[in-house]
Amino acid sequence: MRKIVIAIDGPAGAGKSSTAKLVARKLGYTHVDTGAMYRAITLKVLEEGIPVIATEKVSALAQRSEIRLESSHTSPRVFIDGRDVTHRIRSSDVTKAVSSVSSIQGVREVLVREQRKMAAKGGVVLEGRDIGTVVLPDAELKIFMVANVAERARRRKKELAVAGVDVDEKNLASEIEERDRRDSTRDTSPLKQARDAIVLDTSNLTLNEQVFFIVERANEIIKKKKS
Ligand code: C5P
Repeated sequence: MRKIVIAIDGPAGAGKSSTAKLVARKLGYTHVDTGAMYRAITLKVLEEGIPVIATEKVSALAQRSEIRLESSHTSPRVFIDGRDVTHRIRSSDVTKAVSSVSSIQGVREVLVREQRKMAAKGGVVLEGRDIGTVVLPDAELKIFMVANVAERARRRKKELAVAGVDVDEKNLASEIEERDRRDSTRDTSPLKQARDAIVLDTSNLTLNEQVFFIVERANEIIKKKKS
């Protein structure tokens, strides 16, 4: 039996990555962080000094780049053209520029094609902004994760603190709001809830509760498919 596909979408900081990683681990599935793919392209654009408004050049760069995600449960890694950029793609320069790069149609075409290939055999948990709406509209389980901005900023601050970076929570909250605004209002594949997605508000949930909720839904679907 073909394993199912799980699509997790939602705004920055709603808890998609940590949740998707654990859901994949519990089910024995592969986790695909599509945001990391947009970040890897953005890093290369910045390194090559290409202005983000040069859409054709940026699209050509995406076409000639090879992105590989190593989906290890303990330390997942991101490579571009064979180079490990796992940490560099999380820099604030990349975070600031990624919304512009990801709004370029040519970039999306290249990455969406890759993402569909990764999902073709099933047994994957893809997380992003447009997975349930554009990339995999036939995914068996779609989750739209949300959380209030204050909570998302608090979580992000905690994450950065672990990495030794101290940032002002209010600044983080405005950065998150700005990225939400850009991701939701762009013309190409904006962040949007799929009509058949289950909304999961994580503001008052623990990571374990989020994971449990999704794994339960997934197991219900898997059971139905078997019978
Ligand atoms: O998930 P993460 O915050 O790392 O994503 C970084 C950026 O990549 C998002 O702000 C968004 O602009 C873009 N993105 C996207 N479509 C996806 C995943 C991420 O446009 N499927």
